[in-house]
Amino acid sequence: MTAQVHELNCEILVAGGGAAGVPCALAAARCGAKVILCHDRPVLGGNASSEVRMHIVGANGTGRFDRGCELQTEAREGGIIEEIRLENCVRNPQRSASMFDLILYEMCRAEPNLTLLMNTTLTGVELQCGDGPYIEAAIAERQSTEDRFRIRAQIFIDCTGDGRPGFEAGAAFMRGRESQAEYGESLALCEADSFQLGSTILITARRHERPMPYVAPPWVREFTKDDLALRLYAVPGDEPPTHEYGYWWAEWGGVLDTIKDNETIRDELLSVTLGIWNHIKNGPPDTANDADPFNASHWALDWIGFLPGKRESRRFIGQHVLTQSDLQLSRPFSDAIAYGGWSMDLHPPDGVDAPLEQPCVQHALPFLYDIPVRSCVARDVPNLMFAGRNISATHVAFSSTRVMATCAVVGQGVGTAAALAARHAVSPNLIASDKQLMSNIREQLRRDDAFLIGPADDPVGGIAAAAQITASSRQPGGGAANVLSGQTRSVYGDRGVSPERTTEGLQRWMSAPNELPATIRFDWQTFQTVRSIQLVFDTGMHRHLTLSHHDGYTSQMIWGRPQPETVRDYEVQILEQDGWKTVCEVRDNYQRSRRHSLPEGTVTKSLRILVTQTNGIDHARIFEVRLD
Ligand SMILES: Cc1cc2nc3c(=O)[nH]c(=O)nc-3n(C[C@H](O)[C@H](O)[C@H](O)COP(=O)(O)OP(=O)(O)OC[C@H]3O[C@@H](n4cnc5c(N)ncnc54)[C@H](O)[C@@H]3O)c2cc1C
Repeated sequence: MTAQVHELNCEILVAGGGAAGVPCALAAARCGAKVILCHDRPVLGGNASSEVRMHIVGANGTGRFDRGCELQTEAREGGIIEEIRLENCVRNPQRSASMFDLILYEMCRAEPNLTLLMNTTLTGVELQCGDGPYIEAAIAERQSTEDRFRIRAQIFIDCTGDGRPGFEAGAAFMRGRESQAEYGESLALCEADSFQLGSTILITARRHERPMPYVAPPWVREFTKDDLALRLYAVPGDEPPTHEYGYWWAEWGGVLDTIKDNETIRDELLSVTLGIWNHIKNGPPDTANDADPFNASHWALDWIGFLPGKRESRRFIGQHVLTQSDLQLSRPFSDAIAYGGWSMDLHPPDGVDAPLEQPCVQHALPFLYDIPVRSCVARDVPNLMFAGRNISATHVAFSSTRVMATCAVVGQGVGTAAALAARHAVSPNLIASDKQLMSNIREQLRRDDAFLIGPADDPVGGIAAAAQITASSRQPGGGAANVLSGQTRSVYGDRGVSPERTTEGLQRWMSAPNELPATIRFDWQTFQTVRSIQLVFDTGMHRHLTLSHHDGYTSQMIWGRPQPETVRDYEVQILEQDGWKTVCEVRDNYQRSRRHSLPEGTVTKSLRILVTQTNGIDHARIFEVRLD
């Protein structure tokens, strides 16, 4: 019996449901496109899923490269990834890896325009020749049900990391490390090679009430103290070895083919990771039986990843190849759809086989940088786009763009661009040169709480802009008119946005301390019909916020409850002859971006937002109010 073939149609096919693919599919679906998300695993999230368990970091950096500064440098990503982080933070205080999977799954299921095909691998494409090799359909297989799908779409977006769809379509790609001469990069090698960042298997462990033995399998690697001198003991006193959350530096396989040799790499990584655990539990060779050099006697393995976390494979060649200088100079791109800011984070491809080399060398970037849509459109396949770790970037630039919150904002940018392009029947290779479309895409992204560097092309307009705006009180610099600036964060200071592309200021309305309830009010000379209201609240974007299995990193966050800056309870009211009437009431909010439809026929000359309670602070903060 052969597999049954199902013919499916959509406007946008997204392949790969990782950090990039999920926001990409959600953004496209929310913009009205019919989307299919085809994902080869049983859970969403890719390297952030319970199958791998990496924590999501992004432009705000960490440790020595942290960009956060309260009310000044708020670099954490907004939009869909912020929605995911806030949902996870409040609903997953226990830091369960599976709860994260569930939240992504729920979000995809909740989207009426999105069809989710799980356990379904995209294995091929059908091409049609026109101006270039257009992809007409993709072929996908679901082994568990013996089904095959032929999926026709206008636009195909490869978010698979390995880039199988693009590869099958014949799109040009890069692998390995480029030479300095190729893109003029000082951090590149003198001569190009085929090596990449290696892969890693993570583990988690738990402390028990009594000593827990660990008997290693006979095939694990033996590590001496010298082997791990630059790893386990990397910065003595700075970060003592902790046991709960594996070793990101247990890296191996970068000198092999991270696609074709993936099974070999998995086997060797198990040997490496469990060898390190054996070193922690039982000590380096020649350790006395009763010694416990790492204070790990009560610790036991809880979970072992069997899926190698893959850092790097194919990077496609797009209409623009993002380079070291683009990042270092924060080069402005008029077609920017996302931003990044993580340092350029290079690792030795040999990983643990290079014990004399640091496991990573991070090169700080002075400011946040633009990512243009042209780095997400194939140079040679007109209807192929990409997001995530297979975007068009050199090895050096990729070492920054690869972090997952950056992958997520690129995903949202690409999904939005694709949906608007599909709506106007514009081929992806023409998006960047279509000024009107580009302006619409950027405007849509800003409406959806994505951050784009630079002043808004079109600050908040419409009914809100025509009103006289007042507030019950304000703090210096935190006036009511800030809610119309089109800026929904402060990003200046040493490590924010380069000074010529940003303005200083609070960018939000802040009521006076200890003044709750507080109100912000819109008055018009004539009656206005208001159909919907969109609000952006403060969620403490100078802080870190991500699901991490590392206790030390989690302690830098406010985890397990809403962020204290966020407005919790509020009402939207309109003035009628007999006083203020509530047309929308919200309790227990913890999200940053909220949109409400108002009852049909809401007509008024005065509207106010009454904030009765926050999740912690003693005053109200609102970044933006849009009225449509
Ligand atoms: C060990 C390790 C440590 C890291 N540390 C961090 C960190 O601390 N913080 C951070 O933010 N980033 C970190 N990174 C980088 C980050 O995890 C990746 O760059 C990121 O996951 C890329 O996201 P993505 O969505 O592009 O790809 P992925 O996360 O790889 O997701 C792609 C998904 O597509 C699926 N897929 C593949 N092929 C197909 C196909 N043919 N059909 C359908 N689906 C397919 C895959 O199963 C996968 O789930 C680390 C990476 C590794 C490996």
